[in-house]
Amino acid sequence: MNVHEYQGKEILSRYGVRIQRGIVAETPEQAVAAYKQIAEMTNSKFAVVKSQIHAGGRGKGKIVGTEQRGVQLAKSAEDVERISSNLLGNVLVTLQTGAEGKTVNKILIAEDAYYPGDSEPKEYYMGILLDRGKACNVIMASTEGGMDIEEVAEHHPEKIIKEWIDPRVGLQAFQARKIADKLGLTGEANKEMVKFVGALYKAYVESDSSMFEINPVLKTSDNKILAVDAKVNLDDNALYRHPDLSPMRDKLEEDPLEVEASESDLNYVKLDGNVGCMVNGAGLAMATMDIIKLSGGEPANFLDVGGGANAKTVEAGFRIILKDPNVKAILINIFGGIVRCDRVATGVVEAYKAIGEIPVPIIVRLQGTNAAEGAKIINDSGLKVYSAILLKEAAELVEKVLKESK
Ligand code: GDP
Ligand code: MN
Repeated sequence: MNVHEYQGKEILSRYGVRIQRGIVAETPEQAVAAYKQIAEMTNSKFAVVKSQIHAGGRGKGKIVGTEQRGVQLAKSAEDVERISSNLLGNVLVTLQTGAEGKTVNKILIAEDAYYPGDSEPKEYYMGILLDRGKACNVIMASTEGGMDIEEVAEHHPEKIIKEWIDPRVGLQAFQARKIADKLGLTGEANKEMVKFVGALYKAYVESDSSMFEINPVLKTSDNKILAVDAKVNLDDNALYRHPDLSPMRDKLEEDPLEVEASESDLNYVKLDGNVGCMVNGAGLAMATMDIIKLSGGEPANFLDVGGGANAKTVEAGFRIILKDPNVKAILINIFGGIVRCDRVATGVVEAYKAIGEIPVPIIVRLQGTNAAEGAKIINDSGLKVYSAILLKEAAELVEKVLKESK
């Protein structure tokens, strides 16, 4: 689960990571009130207005049809009012949003962490994630922080420091010191960085995150080290352990079909193809997607309806697949192990009738317990449903209906 920058920073700060402080706002009035609070707290007129969307690259991104950047410096309440009206409710396009962009529903009014006149603020990069190959967490850091880290990673990989952390023993003090040293920090700044790395790692582990990206990590001229940005991804499978973090989910940022599917307990991932698929079991779902590709189609989604496929789950799956306008055919591939094929077939027929006219051809492959009975129910239903027992037959049917729909 992705969270917004302001939420990521809230998590960090609970674990003692120093952050650029800020207040979130949803209207220009709230933004001005937030600015006044920040200005009082920092005793400065400077503040930054930062669009909160689930995508990075906001500093360089622009609001559609304007020259308005997603992150802007403000020097007065009037600036804040103007900038927030320009951002809120409008679509921000960044390198990470794709051309369609994302609507800015919230903004963060943050303290200006780069003191005016600071002659040497220095931006670093720091990320923590799981290195599956090494079965370790890895901390990545670079002196080349700021908005071009992707370029650095591509053209100067040697400028990215990596430190692997064995999860069984956790981050060792010498490792944090090594990172601070390799970043070229000395004296007070070095000590502060060691503390920063320690707190950051603790936050990562204890919040069950799967990714932290702090870019930039700022060193101010008075040697404070703080997180100016925070990209945090929490592991969905561990959310049950964090009742305080799960409300951070922002459904407005997620694909509406995926939100609907998760409400019906379906594992659904929207893809760009033309053949919708509904399968029980993740492995079979992957294999089914391969078959669709081999028969000349492109999967429109991944959908695992789970072990106990019944009329209700099948209907929910149908409804979600049918909301995707790209879908030209649906392939249902169910293995009847615990659940019997005749019951699934009845479920498919009932779901079909409940939904009414389904405008695209449906291919149902039922294999396993009572496969023949299942096929008979489908064939006798009088509905526009093709039945297959072999995977090969299913693939051929997909190919056939796709040709016919052209
Ligand atoms: P991103 O572009 O989505 O990664 O958003 P960031 O939060 O990283 O902000 C983008 C850029 O805005 C940063 O790289 C900084 O250069 C700049 N920025 C962020 N906070 C401040 C601030 O407090 N003061 C100033 N002057 N610039 C800031
Ligand atoms: Mn950033």
